[in-house]
Amino acid sequence: MRNKKTKMKQMPQKSEPNKPSSLDIFQMLTETKEKEKKKRRTELLAPLGIKEFFTEGNITINKRTCQGLECKLCIKACPTNALFWKAGEVGIAEELCVYCGACVLSCIVDDCIKITRKRDTGEVEKFSKPRDFIILQKNINTKKLVKTIKDLFAEATKKDEETKKS
Ligand code: SF4
Ligand code: SF4
Repeated sequence: MRNKKTKMKQMPQKSEPNKPSSLDIFQMLTETKEKEKKKRRTELLAPLGIKEFFTEGNITINKRTCQGLECKLCIKACPTNALFWKAGEVGIAEELCVYCGACVLSCIVDDCIKITRKRDTGEVEKFSKPRDFIILQKNINTKKLVKTIKDLFAEATKKDEETKKS
């Protein structure tokens, strides 16, 4: 019997010059998700009158070390109701969190709540203990104070020069 070998004709591949790559699609989806998240945050935070000063951040609660049943202090401290009690543990509505740190400051267990937040300047801050948070706030206040003094000094020098010239 003759072996009938039939050659399959290769179909010419259609060129699709404008087709977005999977990387583009992923980026588009991520951007859309981010936009939706921001919109929802704005809608939810507006009635509370809270200005969003940390646009980026992350918050986690260690369920193993949390003493939630006898504590719930973080829930009481949260100004935006981003923390809630559900099914025997503290839940996080991250779209409501402004990464203010009030929960860390009130938490009775070190390293239970971990916050990472990014300032407009690009500076990233991480803290998980009340002590770390207090030190961080002091440093920020000191930085602000130094800047204010520098600005005042620069202004006084400028005025002094202007008086000498006239
Ligand atoms: S960081 Fe502030 S807004 Fe976010 S959960 Fe803690 S207390 Fe609430
Ligand atoms: S304050 Fe800390 S220990 Fe208390 S419920 Fe909140 S996360 Fe848990």
